[in-house]
This record gives sequence, structure tokens and C-alpha cells, in this order.
Amino acid sequence: MNLNQVFASQGTTVFTVMSALAVEHGAINLGQGFPDVDGPEAIRRLAAERLIDGPNQYPPMTGIPELRQAVSRHNKRFYDLDYDWQSEVIVTSGATEALSDCIMALLNPGDEAIVLEPFYDCYLPQIEQTGATVKAVSLKPPQWSIPEDLLEAAFSDKTKLVVLNSPMNPASKVFTGEELSVLARLLEKYDAYAVCDEVYEHLTFDGRKHVPLASLPGMRERCLRIGSAGKTFSLTGWKVGYISGPEALINVVSKAHQFVTFTTCPALQYGVAHGLEMEEDYFTGLASELEGKRDFLRQTLEGIGLPVLPCDGTYFMTADIAKFGFNGSDYDFCKHITANAKVAAVPMSVFYHPSSQAKPNNLVRFCFCKKDNVMAEAAERLNGFFG
Ligand code: PMP
Ligand code: GLN
Repeated sequence: MNLNQVFASQGTTVFTVMSALAVEHGAINLGQGFPDVDGPEAIRRLAAERLIDGPNQYPPMTGIPELRQAVSRHNKRFYDLDYDWQSEVIVTSGATEALSDCIMALLNPGDEAIVLEPFYDCYLPQIEQTGATVKAVSLKPPQWSIPEDLLEAAFSDKTKLVVLNSPMNPASKVFTGEELSVLARLLEKYDAYAVCDEVYEHLTFDGRKHVPLASLPGMRERCLRIGSAGKTFSLTGWKVGYISGPEALINVVSKAHQFVTFTTCPALQYGVAHGLEMEEDYFTGLASELEGKRDFLRQTLEGIGLPVLPCDGTYFMTADIAKFGFNGSDYDFCKHITANAKVAAVPMSVFYHPSSQAKPNNLVRFCFCKKDNVMAEAAERLNGFFG
């Protein structure tokens, strides 16, 4: 059988593997990133009413007008970005679909796409299945700064796009204005595009503000900006995403979307439209609540002797296990603590290109978007095991 090489060669994602292992061992799951409290009740009620009252047939292919208008207004309100809701915004079934649509719409076989390593797991297969080649530029912990020389060296006349994930999963990095400017300069110089995975746009800490690459001079025409209701409203199971970009790009992205899913559940779209219009304090409240959980996890990990890396945003914190002198890989360590400490985590090495020279063996990602009592129980278990 000669099946598709990209997908036939894939394993099961680390999130699925570690979540199953957590269930098997009765472990607290700080591996896969999802909150254990559902997002705002008003959003869920509105969607529930729509589910009962309808409409429940195919909504417009690019999304219901109410949600596209809300995405457009959200872009203006938070970033002063102008996108025409009819021609420059489309709704997708999650950011995963949005990424796939954008990547398929931009790449031809033989093109090159740059990713910053460590990178979210779906980028590599999504790019490779188009026949394009991935060039990974490794960022170095603990600061994960963009190395201008290495980034420029990765560009060539075949470079079609860069995937930028800020705030960044798994490194918890929010790229600085300076780093974004470096990328902007190179995109212009090499006439390339950016697929901007901004699903954690509202989850930034210590007063940091998310800055979309699209808001830099000249960048609006080169960027496809992706958001997700999963992260912004703690509704990861809903799979409602949205893309904003210039009409010329969105036109082709919508052609990919129409043959991948065509549409997204209308009732959920009504709920998310309401969410995006919520008052500012919802968005700031979400970030400050998570910031408290981050600080608690940091104290816990440092308390058992694990140094942690900076965490500017997202659901995740990285710990350095080198000092433990654990005999095995980061993956083995995660399996070990899942089975024995009864707390699951995710190894950082899975977020690297298979042939990467930079793959670490000493970094482990913990998720902190869990109820306070769950975080406290996880702390107790880790203390009991390592303390
Ligand atoms: N990008 C990143 C960086 C993510 O962490 C995730 C997972 N939540 C996604 C995209 C996918 O988002 P969605 O669940 O909306 O498909
Ligand atoms: N984005 C989530 C994480 O990084 C997981 C999403 C998934 O399971 N595909 O943990």
C-alpha cells in the first residue's frame, strides 16, 4: 500500500498519548492544554438556544455575518486593525483548520516555509503535505529570542511563508516589537507571507500586550491572522476559529476552506460572536486569572528544585529537569511522573523537527489552566514524590 507519505509516517500526537496515559494512571493532566472550567455561561446559553431554535442548516460558507462582523470589530478594538468583514474575514472549524487552509492556499510544491522551533505539532505535516519544504529556525532557551542572522540565512528566493506563533506554544514566549520588526523586514525583502497563529492573543502576562505582526507597517498585506474561540473563551471542544487577512489572500484561503469543512456549526458561531463583543474586563480577567495560576505552578516547580523558564503568555510553563539527573529522555520523564507522581506533562522534544540538531532532552512543558484546587492537588503530589 502506497498511502500518503506525510500522514502514513505520523505517530499519534503527544497530547492524545499523554492524556490517555493520565487517565490510565489516574494522574492530574497537566499535559494537553485545555481548561477544566468551561468558558462564559452567556456564550454557552446563547449557543444552546440557537441549537434548539435553529437555524441548524449550512450557514454561509465564510461564516455567519454576525461572527465575521464581531471578528472585524475585535480586530479594530484591540489592535486598531481594519478588515472588511465581508471580504477579509472567514470563520473556520478551529485554528487547526485555519492553519491548514492558509498553508494550502499559499504553498506550491517546491516552495519553502520557515517555522520557528520549537513549533506547534500540526505545522510540519500541514506544510509537508503540500509538497513544500520546512526550514526550521531554532530558538534558544531560556529567552527564545529570534536570531536575526539565522532567520535571514533560512530565507531564500523559494521562501513563500513564515509561520509565526505569538504568544508561542510551547515556549510561552511573546515576541518583542524588535523581533517582529526583524521578521517584517525579511518578509518584505524576500516578498514572503506570514501565517500568524495568534490563538493565545489574550493570554499574556505581566502587563504584556499582544502585538499582531499585521499591525506593523506594510505587514497587513502579508499576514493571515488566526484566532480561536477555544483559547479566548475556554471552549477548546467547540473548534471555532477565524482568519483575518487582505482580500487577495482570503479569496484563495476560502477556496481551501470550502473543500476542507465548507462551514462551521452555526449555533456555536452565534455564541462566539457574542463572546468577541464582551467588555474589556472579560479579556483582562482571563489573563490575570491565568497569571495567578502560572505563579502558583512556578512556586510549586521551584519548590521541588526544578528551575522554570520565563513564561510571558499561553497556558504553559517549561521546567528544566537537567538537575534531577534523570536516566532517560524528556519523554521518559513525562511518562515516569505520570505513572508515579500521578501528574502528567509533555516533553519539549516533540515540538522539534525530526532532524533538528537543537532538540533538548531536559525540558518539560506543564499546563496550568486548571482549577485552583486541582493545581493545589498537583502541587501536593509533586511535593510528595520529589520533596
Ligand atoms: N495553534 C496553537 C499554538 C495551539 O496551541 C492550538 C491548540 N490549542 C491550536 C493552534 C489549535 O487551535 P484549535 O483548537 O482552535 O484548532
Ligand atoms: N494545543 C493544545 C496543547 O498544546 C492541544 C491541542 C490538541 O490536543 N491538539 O496542548
